[in-house]
Amino acid sequence: MRLGIDLDGVVADFNEGWMRRYNEQHGTELTPDLVDHWNAMISLTHFEDVGEFWEWAREWPHPRLFRDLPVVKGAKDSLDRLSRDHDIVIITTKPPWANHDTFAWIADNELPTSEVHITERKWLVDCDIYLDDGPHNLEALVVERPDRTICRFIQPWNDPVPGTVDVDSWETFETLVNQRWC
Ligand SMILES: [Mg+2]
Repeated sequence: MRLGIDLDGVVADFNEGWMRRYNEQHGTELTPDLVDHWNAMISLTHFEDVGEFWEWAREWPHPRLFRDLPVVKGAKDSLDRLSRDHDIVIITTKPPWANHDTFAWIADNELPTSEVHITERKWLVDCDIYLDDGPHNLEALVVERPDRTICRFIQPWNDPVPGTVDVDSWETFETLVNQRWC
């Protein structure tokens, strides 16, 4: 099967990554458990809007933010096991300036994939099962790909989305894939 896998919030720990840098720079003690809604970086920081946050993220010197994110616990091992029987298709949304860092991060962490899509229109990439944490992505996938299995990677910043299957860990996702495959 083709497994469409999101990166940030699913494989890459985006919050841990940007908070580490923000804390270094501003002497704050932000921790990922503070994030309980989408775009929480605005309410947790001095940034006025999302644009200001991305401007800060873009200007951070080498290694830049998206080259330097921790891997979510369990993700790499699960992807390695799943890749023995399935195609791992990475589908992620990034600002254009982060494209090279995204490819480099995938290489640095040796993700078992030969297909990467950087796009906002994730539903255009045809997969059998999708795994994502973004509320807007999940809703769009349900509408555009109603006959596929769409998994919500449960995070404090998303709520149940009708038409999706809840997945609370990489272990659960592996079990679900194996069940669908048999
Ligand atoms: Mg995501």
